[in-house]
Amino acid sequence: MAIRSEWHIHTHCSCDGACMEFETLINDAKKYGVTDFGVTDHYHTRLQEADIAASRAEYDRAIERHPELKGHFHFGIEATLMSQWEIDKIARGEYTTPPIWGIRHGGPANAPVAFDFDEEFLEKYKIDYVVTGMHWPMYCPTDEQSLLKEYHRQYMIAAAHPFTDILAHYTWYDKNIYPGVENPFLDFTKVSETMRSELKHCLIENKVAFELNAFLFFLPQTFIDEYLGFAAELQRSGVILSQGCDSHERDLSSVHYDEIAKTYEHYGIKTEEFFCL
Ligand SMILES: [Zn+2]
Ligand SMILES: [Zn+2]
Repeated sequence: MAIRSEWHIHTHCSCDGACMEFETLINDAKKYGVTDFGVTDHYHTRLQEADIAASRAEYDRAIERHPELKGHFHFGIEATLMSQWEIDKIARGEYTTPPIWGIRHGGPANAPVAFDFDEEFLEKYKIDYVVTGMHWPMYCPTDEQSLLKEYHRQYMIAAAHPFTDILAHYTWYDKNIYPGVENPFLDFTKVSETMRSELKHCLIENKVAFELNAFLFFLPQTFIDEYLGFAAELQRSGVILSQGCDSHERDLSSVHYDEIAKTYEHYGIKTEEFFCL
């Protein structure tokens, strides 16, 4: 089966150099047979509220131009769990240059995490769905075991959070966060059975979808094999999988939906059962 939905796309409103125009997205979705989709610009802290406001305004104008997309084209955000420590510092204005990515060093190890927005924010911007992206470990030691534990801790909080609809890019690792430290997930077998099982049950209980994000295709074949095997097992157990190209590009031309669908099917993943709003 072909992939007909796409739930993780950044637009030029995003804080990080993404550059897609709404009209390009709409045209490309049609061109590539994607019938149901949404935009999800980054929200880390209150410093990104203006980006979300801009994205929502553009979305509203796009729907006005394309009323036929109502109910098929949705407005979402990619929200990051941040440390309460940095949320509080940013709320107090304790910074010189606005920390777009939050405050990545100096906080307490394994600090409590939270979203820097509430229900009212979701209503104000009429946010249809939240993709939660775990982007950074919280100031923990950099040995492999500490990193694995810290990521697992955050994924469990993310998957259980009532705001989360889709868990983004499980085990994506930002190599710039701790220079010189190797990606602890490169060998996916390091993710223990206990961690996998805990996450699986948490996703099922909270009806949160697990995203298949394009990042995995940039990793070694051994990673892809193990990862997609895990994803297929999640699906067989009742977890909904969600398509996420996570595009920051000008258009969707680099996303080869047919090829991706074939790859997923090779691992026994059923694309016809993918997440859809
Ligand atoms: Zn992300
Ligand atoms: Zn993203």
